[in-house]
Amino acid sequence: QVRVRFAPSPTGPLHIGGVRTALFNYLFAKKHGGTFVLRIEDTDQTRYVEGAEAYIIEALNWCGIPYDEGPGKDGGYGPYRQSERKEIYGEYAEKLIASGHAYYAFDTSESLDGHRKKHEAEGKTFIYNWHNRLKLDNSLELSQEETRARLESGAAYVIRFKSPKDQTVVLQDAIRGKIEIDSNTLDDKVLFKSDGMPTYHLANIVDDHLMEISHVIRGEEWLPSLALHVQLYRAFGWEPPVFAHLPLIMKPVGKGKLSKRDGEKGGFPVFPLAWENASGYRESGYYPEAVVNFLAMLGWNPGTEQELFNLEELIKAFTLERVNKSGARFDPDKTIWYNNAYLQQRSPKELLEDFIYYIDNQNIELNRREPEFISQVLELIRERANFPGDLWELGKYFFEAPVSYEPKAAKKQWKEQTAGILTRLTAVLEKEENFEDAGALEIRVKSWIQEEGLGFGQVMPPLRLSLVGEMKGPHIFNIMALLGKDESIDRIKRAIE
Ligand code: GLU
Repeated sequence: QVRVRFAPSPTGPLHIGGVRTALFNYLFAKKHGGTFVLRIEDTDQTRYVEGAEAYIIEALNWCGIPYDEGPGKDGGYGPYRQSERKEIYGEYAEKLIASGHAYYAFDTSESLDGHRKKHEAEGKTFIYNWHNRLKLDNSLELSQEETRARLESGAAYVIRFKSPKDQTVVLQDAIRGKIEIDSNTLDDKVLFKSDGMPTYHLANIVDDHLMEISHVIRGEEWLPSLALHVQLYRAFGWEPPVFAHLPLIMKPVGKGKLSKRDGEKGGFPVFPLAWENASGYRESGYYPEAVVNFLAMLGWNPGTEQELFNLEELIKAFTLERVNKSGARFDPDKTIWYNNAYLQQRSPKELLEDFIYYIDNQNIELNRREPEFISQVLELIRERANFPGDLWELGKYFFEAPVSYEPKAAKKQWKEQTAGILTRLTAVLEKEENFEDAGALEIRVKSWIQEEGLGFGQVMPPLRLSLVGEMKGPHIFNIMALLGKDESIDRIKRAIE
C-alpha cells in the first residue's frame, strides 16, 4: 500500500520547489493507486504564518493535484497538523531516553555560543557529539539523581539524539542509491525542547511512522538529515520508508538554487498570499497544466522526446528511476514555451473565456463585446500569444482605432502621394459588397493596385498603418474583413486627414 505525504511548514506562499515535491508525490501515489497525504508541519510557532495552510491547499487545488487525506479529509490517521499532535511526541522522546538513544541536555545558549567561539578561535568547527560531550552540560555526564533534580527544579533542557562514535551509517536512496556517512561528522540533533514541542526531526519521523508512510519523496535539502532520520527509525525499532530525494532546482544562470530573489526569473510563488502585493504564476497568466508540465520536467525525464504531458500521461510515465541526481536548471523561457503550448491547445471557447477573464480583471472597457467578433479576433492573433494578457496586447487595435501612428514607420511609409492613393482606394472599398470575405477583398484590392499601375509597397504599408497604427498584425485583409467596411474606411479617412 503506497502512502506518500507532502509535509510543508506553513511559513509563507508555496514556491515551485515545494509544488514540485507535492507533484512528484502526487504522481507517485496515483501511479500506484496509493494515497497522497498532506501533513502540516507547524511545530515551529515562531515561523508560523496565518493563512499559509489555506494557501497551500488552494495552491494544490489550483494545480489540479489535491490531497486525498489531510486537514479536513480524515483518512483515519489524523490529526494532520503537528500542532494538534503535540501530546504524541513527548512519549516517543522519552522512549529514546529509556533505550539510551537520547539524553537530556541543559546547556544554555550562552554556553553553547562560548564553546562555538572557542573552537572558531582555534580554527575548528564545534560539533555537539562525543567529540565535545565531556565538556558540555548533558545528562550523560551527570548522575541520574542530578538529572532528575535538575528536571524537577524546572531547568531548561532539550532532548538530544545520541549519535554514535566511529560508525558508518549506510543509507539507501531510491534516486541516489547507496550513501555512506561517517557518524563522527554527525551532531547530536535536538529532538525535543522544554517548551513541550518536538523539533522537525522527531515529529517528522514519528508521524511518518504513525501515518504509515511508505515512501518519503522530498527535496535534496533534506538529504543531510537522512542519516539522523534513518538512525531514529532504527532506534525505535521501526522499518524506515523508502527515501527519494529530488534534485535541487537551480537558478537560470550562475550557481545556487532558485530562490525567492529570482522572482522575475521564475522564483515567484504559485500565487502571492492574499495580502501580498507580488506576482505569481497564477497572476501572470500561467495555466495550471503548463505549470504542472514544466515542473514535472524539472528533475525528471520520460526518456523520450515527448515534452507535453497532461496529468494523466504524467501519472502513467512517472517513475522514481527516471528522476535525475543532478540539479535541474530552471529555464524561464521554457516555462513560457509551455504556457504557449497550452494556450494554443485551448478551444476557441476556452480562449474566449481566458480573454474575457483577463479583460474584466484589468478593468478594460471593450467597445465590442460580441463573443462572435472577439472569438474571430482571437483566432487571428492567438498564434503569437504566450499568455491571455498577450491577446489583448496583440489585438487591441480591433477594439480601438489608432490614435497615433508609429512615427518611424509613418515617416518611411507615408509619402506625398499616399493620401491621394488611399482616397481613391476608399472609393473602391465603398463599392465592395463582400467585405467580410477576406479572400474576395484581397483579389479586389490587388487587382485595383495593378489597374492603377501602382506598386504594392505604395498601398499596403500605409493601409496597415491606417488600420493598425503600426506595422504589425496578421494578414491585412483578415483585419479589414473583421473590422468591417465602415470601421475600415473610417480609419483610412482619419489617417488621411
Ligand atoms: N516540513 C518540512 C518542509 O517544510 C518537510 C520535509 C520532509 O518532507 O521531510 O519541507
